[in-house]
Amino acid sequence: MDPEVLQALKKIQRDAVKREPRVEPELSGMDFIEFEFARLQALPFATTDAGSEADPPIAAEDVQLAMRLRERPAHWHSVTGAHLPEQGCITITADPEATRAEIASVLIHELAHAATPTPRSPSGRRTVHGRAFRTMLVRAAKEAYGLDLDPEAITWSSWRIDDAIVRELHALGGEWRLAVGS
Ligand SMILES: [Zn+2]
Repeated sequence: MDPEVLQALKKIQRDAVKREPRVEPELSGMDFIEFEFARLQALPFATTDAGSEADPPIAAEDVQLAMRLRERPAHWHSVTGAHLPEQGCITITADPEATRAEIASVLIHELAHAATPTPRSPSGRRTVHGRAFRTMLVRAAKEAYGLDLDPEAITWSSWRIDDAIVRELHALGGEWRLAVGS
């Protein structure tokens, strides 16, 4: 997607008052991923650069996306993602059978990393999926999709929150169960 188009899109999204869950059924595959990523980046939670270790820090709304659709399914996760804080970059790799909901869940998870400070334990170990992260993830799910997750969700493991987001999006019906490679 052209950078100028993306910028214009983000502006439109910022100006939009509507926050209900929605997808763009006419978009397929990579276009859907790019569109959804830009839409998520335009939300209030993404304005922070707290999760960035780049110099200067890069806000979640400005991180870059590198994505890849696999030709055939992998053995385990249908979608995997990573946030590379030093590079201001998020990577995502998806099976063709991955649903839009599964893609969205990973995108929002990685953007929540970019928006959340990563505390270090006294030994220097980074607490990547700590309470601050899980709180941001629950907040992002609310801003992005209007999801009211269980109030206890911030005490869950992060993968359980990821799963809940997928389940709730699938339950919305519509296009969320569409395979990204279809
Ligand atoms: Zn994570």
